[in-house]
This record gives sequence, C-alpha cells and structure tokens, in this order.
Amino acid sequence: MIKAVTGTRDTLPTDIPKWNFLESIVESVFSKFNYKEIRTPVFEDTNLFARGIGESTDIVGKEMYTFVDRSGESITLRPEMTAGVVRALIEHSLDKKQNLNKLYYMGPMFRQERPQAGRYRQFHQFGAEALGSNDPLLDAEMIIMAYDIFARLGLKNLLVKINSLGVPSSRENYKKILRDYLQPYFEKLTSESKKRFDTNILRLFDSKEENDRKIMEDAPLLIDYLDDESLRHFEKVKEALLASRIPFEVDAKLVRGLDYYTHTTFEVVSGSVGSQSALCGGGRYNLLVKELGGPDIPGIGFAAGMERILLACENENSFSVKEENLDLYLVAIGKGLENFIYSNAVNFRREGLSVDLDYLGRSVKAQMREANRTNSRYVLLIGGEEFDRGEVVLKNMGTGEQKIFTKDDFEKILLTVKEN
Ligand code: AMP
Repeated sequence: MIKAVTGTRDTLPTDIPKWNFLESIVESVFSKFNYKEIRTPVFEDTNLFARGIGESTDIVGKEMYTFVDRSGESITLRPEMTAGVVRALIEHSLDKKQNLNKLYYMGPMFRQERPQAGRYRQFHQFGAEALGSNDPLLDAEMIIMAYDIFARLGLKNLLVKINSLGVPSSRENYKKILRDYLQPYFEKLTSESKKRFDTNILRLFDSKEENDRKIMEDAPLLIDYLDDESLRHFEKVKEALLASRIPFEVDAKLVRGLDYYTHTTFEVVSGSVGSQSALCGGGRYNLLVKELGGPDIPGIGFAAGMERILLACENENSFSVKEENLDLYLVAIGKGLENFIYSNAVNFRREGLSVDLDYLGRSVKAQMREANRTNSRYVLLIGGEEFDRGEVVLKNMGTGEQKIFTKDDFEKILLTVKEN
C-alpha cells in the first residue's frame, strides 16, 4: 500500500472545522489591522532562498526540498514565505504604488526535517510582513497581531519573548567581543558550534548541547552593546506592547541568526506543546529587500506554525467547533420517485439549503439513520400512501413534529426549513 510520505499529513474532513476556524480568525485579525492577503507560488528559483534566508542557516544548509526540473533549472519548494513575498514586492514594484505594504499569507511550507511531534515536512504557516517603514510601532503590531490571534483561539499558556539585535555596525562590534570570550572554550564546543563560530556566531545561543549551553551562560550579551538608536527603537517597541497590555519578557539570548536581521526579534512560545514550543517567530529585516535586489526599504514580519497552534489548542482544550448540520435529508419511500427527489434536492440546494439524499438504495430505516448521522435538522419523507395522495411529510428532527404538504409545495417547505 502506498502511504503518505514521511512527515506529511492528511487533513481529514473531521479535522477541517478546526482548520477553518483558525483560518477565519487569522483573516479576521489581519484584516482588522489592515493587512492584505498575498499568495505566491509554492516553488521558487533556488537562488531566492539561498540569498533570502542565507547559506549558513539550517534551512538552506540541510532542509530544503531542492530539485532540478526538466529544463535544468534548480527549483525549491518554499521553506518559508518572507523571501517569496519580498520577491513579489520587488517584481511588481509594490513599493512604488504605496510606501508601506502590509501583507499577510497562509499556506503550506516544506522542510526536510526529522519528523517529530510538532515538526513536519509539509506544514502550514500564516504570517505577516510590513514593508516600507522602520517605525517601532510596526514591530509591536506584529507581536500584538500574533498574540491577539492566539488569544482569540482561547490559548492561555503563552510567553512572548523579545530581543533586539540592533544594527549591523553595533552587532559586528559585539561579534568580536563574543569571539574573544569564546576563543578559550573553542576546543570544548560541539562540531556544529565550531562551524557556527565562523559562519554565524550568534547561533551558538541556540545550541541544545548541555556543554555549549554552559559555556554560553556567561557569554556577553548583544543587548549590552547596542548603540543608542537601537536602544531607543527597542524602548518604543516595549512601550507599545505595554500600552497594548501584551505580557512579554526580554530574552537577551533570543537570536534569529540571519545577518540581515535588525532590531526586534521575537517568539511566542506555548507551555502546552512539549519541546517544539515556538508557536511563532519573527523579526525586523531592514537589509533583506536590498539584499534581494530591491529598493533599500525596511521590513518586519513573523510566521506562525498552524499545526503546532492547533496542537496547543487541543492540549488546552481552548475552543470547540460546532458540528455541521445538514438542513434537510430527503428520504425515499419505495422506488420510482428518484427523478422527483433528485430534482427537488437540486432545487432546494439552489435556494440555499444544505441537502442530501440516498444514493445507495437503502431502506427507509437506514435512510433515517443516515439523516441522524448527518445531523439533519429536517427530513422530507417522499413516497408511499401519502405520495399517492399527492402529499409529502416534513419531519422536524429536533422536536419530532411532522407536517404534511402537498408534493408541489416547494416554496412552503423551503420557508419552513429556512425559518427554523
Ligand atoms: P521559522 O520560519 O523557522 O521561524 O518558524 C516559524 C514557526 O513555524 C515556528 O514557530 C513553528 O511554529 C512553525 N514551524 C517551523 N518549522 C516547522 C515544521 N517543520 N513543522 C511544523 N511547524 C513548523
């Protein structure tokens, strides 16, 4: 038997209502903040991600689904959306049409990671990008939107962590200080951290190795070496969060080690999903648009993992979705009325009712069971002696009450079902 590829999942009809609920909240919150949806292709030129995410990152280094297509081009399934959104902004000169573009997205992403709870190879993210302004209020806005979405889902066990990576000049200065601090410990570092020492030294704060962590415990922190402008920016972000009643904590070790990151970085973690606890992550990237060949405009964004959010919701039992009701089930009594029943079903549907009927030649009893299983609010019994008299029977499945209509009383039946 052929099975779904490792790390991918089916979303079955029974799971769809909670996905729909999440998607509706995402759309609702983003649109309240005046973000417009953007959709970009699921695959892009590999160079976009190599340049847009950075060669030294895990994503580009070991996780991308990259292949050469029949025309010999190197293609990659998108592992995240920021690079694609920035490419689209540049390609369509969106920045010339309006100075600030506030965009949001939702969709599948692909990374070849080791599958585990909360980590998949095809997963879904929603996120936002604001391109064109360096206002710290936008940094705060990202965090507020993420937090509001989580709150509307009923999530409680949340922690917002924020940090500032400053601007490249102060960061370069700090990297030298960090390098000097680490030099005496170099031989004790894991091989991965040794590599990062050269390629992306800030990422040493992300190491999960006990020994690396001990070494990093006393490491100098970037936040203590920030220039005045970066500190002022960070203060404004914090003020805006306080004013919006967002509980947060400064985590000086929160690095999202990309060179074009500037100023604010943040994560929202949940205490309800085990080790893969980050529900979302984001940051300011004032150098990325230029790096990708566009104008020199600043940006900020975040991305949130939808599977992980739904897992947190499930573990906290944070919301429940109503099961879908069918308005009407048409029950055939006996044979010979298929055309009448079928055309009535189509007409009721065209008038806005959700309607189903039997396609399996089942007994009346089995059809009634099906009407129950589908939570039908009404059943219309068609056939038998009543039909011979020119009548049909409408049964309210909630109250058990039955009403008789003449068989051509389509309008009256429609009204009765719609009214209740
Ligand atoms: P990142 O783009 O790596 O910053 O990830 C942003 C968010 O996407 C994370 O906080 C997770 O919630 C989610 N995420 C990232 N990778 C995966 C994955 N492999 N499976 C499921 N969710 C993921």
